[in-house]
Amino acid sequence: MESNKTFKAASIIASANKERQNILEDNASRYERTVERAVLQYSNLELARRRAGFIRHKGINGLEKYLIEFEANHERNGGKVIWAQDSAEAVKHIINIIKRSGAKQITKSTSIIADEIGLKDELTKENIKFTEVSPGNFILSEFNEEPRHLSSVLIHKSHDEITNRLSEKYKISAKAGAIEIHNVIRQICRENFENSIVSITGANFLIADSGSVCISENTADGILSSVMPKIQIMIAGIDKIIPSIMNLDALLPLYSTYSSGEKIKAYNTIISGPRQDNETDGPNEMYVVLLDNGRSNLLEQKLQRRSLSCIDCGACQSVCPVYRKIGGESYNTLYTGPIGSIITPWLKGVEDFIHLSYASTLCGKCTEVCPVNINLHDQLLYNRSDAVRMNIHSFSEKVTRIGWHRALKSRKMMDWSSSKWKNITLRYVYGGKWGKDRALPQVSEKSFKQLWEERREGAK
Ligand code: SF4
Repeated sequence: MESNKTFKAASIIASANKERQNILEDNASRYERTVERAVLQYSNLELARRRAGFIRHKGINGLEKYLIEFEANHERNGGKVIWAQDSAEAVKHIINIIKRSGAKQITKSTSIIADEIGLKDELTKENIKFTEVSPGNFILSEFNEEPRHLSSVLIHKSHDEITNRLSEKYKISAKAGAIEIHNVIRQICRENFENSIVSITGANFLIADSGSVCISENTADGILSSVMPKIQIMIAGIDKIIPSIMNLDALLPLYSTYSSGEKIKAYNTIISGPRQDNETDGPNEMYVVLLDNGRSNLLEQKLQRRSLSCIDCGACQSVCPVYRKIGGESYNTLYTGPIGSIITPWLKGVEDFIHLSYASTLCGKCTEVCPVNINLHDQLLYNRSDAVRMNIHSFSEKVTRIGWHRALKSRKMMDWSSSKWKNITLRYVYGGKWGKDRALPQVSEKSFKQLWEERREGAK
C-alpha cells in the first residue's frame, strides 16, 4: 500500500515535469531510430526472434537441469559456484570472499544484480570501497542515483546535465562532447582497476554445456574485470541460464540490436573459469554467485514464468508510453517499465507491488519490440487477474467493478440518464483519480443505440 502511494505521488510529480519528459523522449526516440536501422541486418527478423525466444524458454523450463550442468562444468573448469537464496545470502558470501582476500577496494562493472542485492551499501558498512568501472554507472553514481533502465542507464539525463555535474570535479570542459567526456571517465575507471584485487561483474548468459559466463558490452569493463584483478566474482540471476554455447549466435546479435541499436556489441567475452597454467591472463580465482531472490516464485507462475526469459535489453522500457511519461525513478523499484511491472510483484511481494501491473496502457508496444517474444502486455493482465484471485484489491475498486459490471450489462441502466448527467457523475467519481493534467473523456451526447436507431430510421 505504502509503495503504491509513493509510486502515485512520484508519477504525478514526474508527469508534470515537461523538461524531464523532453529529455526522455529525445533519448528514447534516438534509440528507436537506431534499432530501426539495426534490425535491417536480419532477412527474417521474426524467425530470429522466435528462435531466440525458444532458446530462452527452453533454458527457463529446464532450469534445474541446466543450472546443475552449469555448476558441474564450471567447477570442472576450476571456478566455484555459490548458490544464494536471497540478497542477504549473496552479500554474506561476497563479503567473505573479499575479506579473505584482504581487499579494501573492489571494482564493479555493469551488474544490475549487484544493485538488486544492495551490495554497495553493504560493502560501505564494512569499510570496503566500491568503485564503478562502467562509464554509464560511474556517471550515474556521481548523481547519487541507481539505474532505472536495463541498458540505457542515462536515458533520463541530458548532455548538459552530465557536463555540468562532471566538469568541475573532473576538469572537463563545459563544451566537451560525448566522446571527450567518455574518454575522461574511461581513464578514471581504468585507473581504479589498478588498485583493485577483486572485481564484481554481471553476466548476460550462463552457459550450461561449457560452464561459462558470457558478457556482452561496448565498454570493456567486464573483460578487464577478468584480466586485471586477481579475484573475479560474477553475480547472476538463475534465470540467465541457456542450454548451450551454440545458442549465443542467436542471442548476442538480438541483444545488441535491441539494447543499443548495433549489429553486435564491441566486446563479447566468454569466461569459463580462472586462468589455466597455459593461459596468459584471467583471474586466479573465479566465483559465480547464482541468485534466486524470488525468481523461483516467478517460475511457479505458469503464465508469467515466460518473463524470466528476458535478456535485459531494455527495449520494452524505451518504447513504453508510461515509462516515457513518468521516467524510471517514479517506479521506486530497480526493475521498471513493462518487464519490471511484471516481475517485481513476484520478486518483492505481490501485495506491495501489484499496483505496477496497472501502470500500463496495454497498448502492446512492449510485446511488439521484445526480441525474445515475451507477451508482456498479456502478462500484465495475468498479474491483474492474480490480484483479483488473491483478493488484493481495494474495497472501492471492488465496489466500482461490481457497479460497472451491472451497469454495462443492462441497457436500461445505460439509458437511465442523459449524457450531461453521465459526465457529471464521471467527473464526480473519477475526476480526482484521473489527474488534473489530463482531460476526462466525455460521454457523447447520443448513445450508440440512439445513433443506430436513427440510422435505421433514416434508411427506411
Ligand atoms: S522483456 Fe523483452 S523487451 Fe523487455 S527488457 Fe526483457 S528482453 Fe528486452
